[in-house]
Order: sequence, then structure tokens, then C-alpha cells
Amino acid sequence: MTAQTHNFEADTGKILNIVINSLYSDPDIFLRELLSNASDAIHKRKFLGQTEPSILNSGENEIFVHVDEKKKTIELVDTGIGLSSDELIETLGTIARSGTSSFLDSIDEATDSKDAAKALIGKFGVGFYSAFMVAEKVSVTTRKAGEKDANIWESDGQSGYTIYKSENEHEIGTSIKLHLRKSAKEYADLNKIKSLIKKYSDHILVPIFVQSKDVEKEQANSAQALWTKSPSDVSKEEYFDFYKSTLGSFDDPYITLHNRTEGSIDFTNLLFIPKTAPFDLFEPERKAKVSLYINRVFISQDVDGIIPSWLRFVKGVLDTTSLDLNVSREMVQSSPVIKKISKSVTKRILSELKKKMKKDDENYDAFWGQFGKVLKEGLYEDFENREKIAEITRVYSFKHEKLINLNSYIEEMAEKQDKIYYLTTDTLKQAKSSPHLEGFKAKGIDVLLMTDPIDAFWMSQMGAYKEKSFLSISRDKYDLAALSEEQAEDKADDEAKNTITTLIKDCLGDLIEDVKSTSELVESPVRLVAGEGGLDFNLERIMKAQNPDFKDSTKILEVNCNHELVKRIPNLSVELQEAISRMLFEQARVLDGEMPTDPQQFSKDLIAIGSSL
Ligand code: ADP
Repeated sequence: MTAQTHNFEADTGKILNIVINSLYSDPDIFLRELLSNASDAIHKRKFLGQTEPSILNSGENEIFVHVDEKKKTIELVDTGIGLSSDELIETLGTIARSGTSSFLDSIDEATDSKDAAKALIGKFGVGFYSAFMVAEKVSVTTRKAGEKDANIWESDGQSGYTIYKSENEHEIGTSIKLHLRKSAKEYADLNKIKSLIKKYSDHILVPIFVQSKDVEKEQANSAQALWTKSPSDVSKEEYFDFYKSTLGSFDDPYITLHNRTEGSIDFTNLLFIPKTAPFDLFEPERKAKVSLYINRVFISQDVDGIIPSWLRFVKGVLDTTSLDLNVSREMVQSSPVIKKISKSVTKRILSELKKKMKKDDENYDAFWGQFGKVLKEGLYEDFENREKIAEITRVYSFKHEKLINLNSYIEEMAEKQDKIYYLTTDTLKQAKSSPHLEGFKAKGIDVLLMTDPIDAFWMSQMGAYKEKSFLSISRDKYDLAALSEEQAEDKADDEAKNTITTLIKDCLGDLIEDVKSTSELVESPVRLVAGEGGLDFNLERIMKAQNPDFKDSTKILEVNCNHELVKRIPNLSVELQEAISRMLFEQARVLDGEMPTDPQQFSKDLIAIGSSL
């Protein structure tokens, strides 16, 4: 085969440039990335060899790093699965196969943040390209297990790459040769390479040997999986190092969970809960980065269902001896062992979070700020764990002006109160100034202010917590007077109330289902509540956003007949009565986060009312 020259896919050159330049401050990581690929390739060969023994390696599985201090080259050789020429084009010729443009978008946003750029490397599978941070030319010679010929891929990381068939015989596996840039020639030093391996790749399970002209073959990593050690033998630093170097994290973990479970199933978990949310947390394809090992052989990073999606920020390793290596990936996924591991791990994570919350609510609230929205998805969709998630859910208390637990809300309920009152809005500011809260404030009854779009959903799905049902104060009916001995001062007599409500109703016509007098308002003249069968306001807004044909449910206007402005309405001219009624209705909508139904009329009404002063 003659040499074929290919241009990089559109955008690849641009991405490469960004990757190389935004990472330049930390070129060390190139070695970790390449070693981790080599180790993955070896595990892949072992794994596929379970069902296709002919591709198994009869010799030792190992990775070699040859350093040529004179020629300024580093060569990494592995006994892994190798790449066919098509795979070379597909994997090394294209960066960010699944989302080049979203990659570019996010990197544009992240240009100021080196950490974010680094995180992107792991996310989009451009680890291989970190080689160009230190190399002006990279040459990959590889023979795929099961194939006869080896191919060579070469590139300067600029515009494209060349592929040709190798004339020589090669072992199965991949060799990656880096011709170091002048600025990176310090890497042509065996001791430096050894210390980098110790630092970043000590936990790689395959032995990594280093060698140079003057130095004999020597193992540079301990090749013992950290999670197979007893937790009492592992220091905090070792855990943190593993979390950063092997799991590609950039913060310290909030929680480290390392346990061995024995019994009907046997597994070890080394899991971490990060302190900060990754920026792809809400992308649909985001999964927990938890790798499954069967008896220390890497199987897969995304075994469906092993970590529930509402814990998709958890990172780490699960290693079990209760599964047979000799089964297909699909079978692993549907195995009852996976379900049992998942259940047990989920329980453990939830109970650890509960402990943390009890011990230090300030730190817990910082965690909640990062991941609370994701956990709430569990309240909505995970029937089995719902109660336990609810126990560690933080909610904003109107009365205390901070986050509290549902349990503390219940403990503080008024004597006759049997509901958990909540108000959903878009923002806390909007919630705090809502007329719906006035009656509660006057009576010292707490209301939970909910501002996440998912809140209305999980509460309506769940219905109740500890047998106390959730009640939306903008939708549901309730009688605050029944909750306390002292009655609101209600000076207006029934006849006056009747006159006012009938008058406003006549002015508003079809805009409103009904107008009623209320004693729940203190400072505000009116508020809107849902009519019969109406939805929580926020829920309705979300439904409307999703479905343009969604019809507004009709609302009831509740009027505070003791309000100075309201009391004056019957004595005004018909025009002013109409203008004020409409203005009151529209401003109540505005306070609920809606547009006025008729902005032009609203503005005319305000001017007419102002001019009459
Ligand atoms: P990622 O490993 O995150 O997918 P990389 O850019 O590091 O992204 O590697 C791209 C792909 O190239 C890998 O997924 C793998 O298929 C292939 N690859 C890289 N290095 C090797 C290797 N040493 N042996 C076999 N395949 C490799």
C-alpha cells in the first residue's frame, strides 16, 4: 500500500490548536493520557479474548516506555488490541467524533478557564492529541489483533496525517513514537518519565516498564489497583491522587467511599462525589463515570443502570467477582448481580450523604447547590428511593430565609397544620414578594419557596412526605383561618364585599372565572388563584412552554375588601372602575411571573388611573 495522505476532518485542526495551546501550561499529562489508552487497549484485548480466544496474548501484558535521550524521542509500546487502518482513520483522524461543533462551542466558553479546557479533553476523547503538546511529529505503528498487517499513521498535528502499510513484521499491539519538540526536550529523560509514571499512572493495572540505552528494563508503577487495598492502608492523598489522575478530576472530592461487600454478591466500590458539577451534567447523554471491573479486568465505563441517572455525578470504580468474565456486555448489563450492586451502592451513597448533612450543613448546602437539581430527578422518577432522597433534600424556607430539611419543616408545623405549604416561582426574589405569602407571614406559618422547574413535578408526583401532603399556595384551596385562633381583622361587611366582588367581576367578564373576597391578604389588594382543576402556576408555565396549544386554565381573582384602593372602587366613575379592575387583574398576573393579557390596554389603564389623581 502506498502512503495515503488525509486532511483532518473539518474543524479538527482548529480544535487541535486550541487543545494544544490551552493545555500548554501542563504538558505533563500527555504521558498519563497515552498510558491510559494503552492500558485500555490491553484490557480490551483481554476482554474480547474471553469470547474469541485466538486474539489473546500468549505472553505477558505490559507497556514499555523507551526513552532515547540523544534522539529526543519517547516510544510507548503496548500489547493491546491494536487498530486497523479504518480504525486509525476513524479514531485518530477525527477528534470529538460525536460532537465537534458542541466541542468548539464549549471550548469557546471555556477559553478563560484552563481547568474547564482540561476537563474537555477527557470528555470528548481527545486524550491522544495531548501528545502534540510535546511532540512535533507522532508516529503510530499498530497491528490489530486478528489481522496480519501493521499500519503506520504519522502526523505533525497541523493539517493532516499519512497512513501506510508497514513493510516489517510486528507483534499485535500499538507503538506510539513521539519526536519531541525543542521546547519539550526535557521529557527525553528516563528519570523524569519514571517520576511522571509514579505520579500519574501508578494505579494502572498493567505493569509499565521504562528503558533507555543506558538503563536496563525497570518497572515504574506498582500496578496494584488502589481499590484492592484495604481502606486502612490508603492515605487521603492517595485517594485524592487517584481521583485526580485516574478519574481526570480537577477538584478534591466531597466524599470518598471505599468499601468491600461480601455475601451473596461480592464487590468493592471506590466511589467519589465531586465538589463541583461538571458542565455537561444536564446533557442528555451524560452518564455516571463509574467503571465496572470483573475481577480487576476492566469491562466498561457506562454499564447502564449500575448508577441511577440522578447520581450521574458520581465517579469511580466498581469491581466484582460475582460476575463471569465470559459473558457478553449486553448480558452483564441485564444481570441481576448488577441490579443488586446498584441497589446496595445507591443505598450506601444516600446514607453517606445523610451523615454529611447532619454533620455539617454548610458544606452539605454547597454540595446541594451543585447537585441538588439532579438529586431531585430521583424524587420524581425513583419510586423506590424517593423517601430516602426526600430526607436529604434541602428546601428554601420563607420563614428562616435559608435552606432547611423537609423534616425540620414538619417539626415546626403549626398545631393544626397538616400540609406542607409551598410556592413555586422562577426566582426567590419573585417568590418573596408574592401576595400569596401575606397570610402565611401574618400567621407565622412557614412556606417552602421552590424555584427549580422540576419542583412542581416532583411534588405533584410524590403527593406527600411523611403523610403530610404538599399544597401549592397558588393553586390549591386552603383555609388559613382554621389554623390559628386569632382571626384576621375583617372590617368589611358581607354586603360591601358582595358589591365590590360583583362589580369587579362585571368589569373583567371572560378574563376571570370568578371574583371572591378573601381574608388571606394583608398588604396586597388582590391575588390570582387557580380555579377548579387548575394547575400550579409554574407547572402551567412549563407545560405552555412545551406545548403552544396548551390552554391557560381559568383563574379566580381573590380580593382584599379591606384594602384602601379596593374600598374606593364603588364610588368611582364607571370608566375608572373598569380601568382599576383590569389593572388589578393584570398586575396580579405580573406578580405571578406572567405577561399582562393585554399590555396596550394595561398601559392605557395605568395612564387613565394616574391622570384621574
Ligand atoms: P478516548 O480514549 O477518550 O476515546 P483518545 O483520543 O485518547 O480518546 O483515543 C481515541 C481512540 O483511539 C481510543 O478510544 C481508542 O479506540 C484508540 N486508541 C488510542 N490509543 C490506542 C492504543 N494504544 N491502542 C489501541 N487503540 C488506541
